[in-house]
Amino acid sequence: MPSSCDLALYAAHILCRAEDGAIHTLADGAVAVTDGIISALGAKSALTRQWQARRELDLGNVLLLPGLINAHAHASMTIFRGLADDLPLMEWLNGHIFPLEQRLTGRLVHLGALLGCAEMIRTGTSAFQDMYLMEDEVCRAADVAGLRGLAGEGLFAFPTQGVPRPEAAPDLVREQAARWRRHPRVRIAVMPHAVYTTTPEILRACVALAAELDLPLHMHLAESAAESASCLKMHGKRPIPYCRDLGLLTPCTSLAHVVDASEEELDILAQSGVCVVHNPSSNMKLASGVTRVPAMLERGIRLALGTDGAAANNRLNMFTEMGRAALLHKAVGGDPSLCPAEHIFAAATTGGASALGDPRLGALAAGRPADIIALDLDSPNLQPMYAPVSHAVYAATGMEVRMTMVDGEILYLDGRFTRFSYPDLLAEMQEVQKEIKQIHGLLNMSVGQCLSAGQ
Ligand SMILES: [Zn+2]
Repeated sequence: MPSSCDLALYAAHILCRAEDGAIHTLADGAVAVTDGIISALGAKSALTRQWQARRELDLGNVLLLPGLINAHAHASMTIFRGLADDLPLMEWLNGHIFPLEQRLTGRLVHLGALLGCAEMIRTGTSAFQDMYLMEDEVCRAADVAGLRGLAGEGLFAFPTQGVPRPEAAPDLVREQAARWRRHPRVRIAVMPHAVYTTTPEILRACVALAAELDLPLHMHLAESAAESASCLKMHGKRPIPYCRDLGLLTPCTSLAHVVDASEEELDILAQSGVCVVHNPSSNMKLASGVTRVPAMLERGIRLALGTDGAAANNRLNMFTEMGRAALLHKAVGGDPSLCPAEHIFAAATTGGASALGDPRLGALAAGRPADIIALDLDSPNLQPMYAPVSHAVYAATGMEVRMTMVDGEILYLDGRFTRFSYPDLLAEMQEVQKEIKQIHGLLNMSVGQCLSAGQ
């Protein structure tokens, strides 16, 4: 008697993970999904004999991959995409981004996050880690769109739109954690923004809060040489030893950027078991420097990939991010063997799962969540195919994604989002654009007068 499953997916090629961790490609394959979990995966001929599916979906000439994991994003910042480019970091932040953020509303944060989710779903991301202001609105967007999210309120030493009284931040995080605790896909993390926007007391309180609530911790760290210089001046230590001494660097911590790190500091990272989230597009665009990814991989430091916000990228597309990560380090290191496609693909899948503290994610195998994407192999840029991982990293653009599934639910299929009306969202974005333009126009009259801190 065949077993029954909710859905059977058929595909020309499937990138699977064997029990020993090895990645291999299955031709003429099928995936059986029950209750959001991959119940079986194998040759179509065998699987159709063993499983009776309530629904079947034959995707034809596609490559099924695990959904990509964007381990550092500010999804709502899609509303600032292309508004201020090609500027020095501090001018960009203080003259544009921070003043705009002082006028954020819950509606803008929510619509921006929903657009961010749409872009991620469209380009094959199934889970993301996000830090922003009024983060509940981002959680709601992830809930609506169907994505997995690890989300945290950005915590600062000064009042923000999300935390008007910084001393009340721990209670706000407790409330958010309680509100989302039972959600099947959205979880909360503790997210101090960065060393230059917080104090040692705030960072210590964040460590205590993460331990109290058993939550992961995520922050920006060592993003530029300027940050290191100011940390040294203010606290007598560079950012990595400073955070180590405050107890922030643990296996439950993920750090975005980590561009400026010495040999000794890389050893500190390796010993502490933290995960580094590499953001090549943002680092290149803001000329922040180059994260020492090959040296990190050599030391066995856990590595994930992220897009950062759309104001500094300007995409939330993990295919673009993989390609740039793989190319950047070859060019800078003068060695084409650096950051091979397999390592970068691992960073965008299992590495992201590790950053989000959910090791079930990032691979297609029986017993794992059905977070699956399908790449259209009829696309001219994906023909012919000898090495699927090479295609994912070097050839695909993300626009070949025909299907994105999270938790066994199809969120996008052949041009259609299934959980929300994309035309309605587009109409809302017309209004958002007018609103942001108006605020930005007013700000431009007073650029330079706004003092605030980092993104
Ligand atoms: Zn960031």
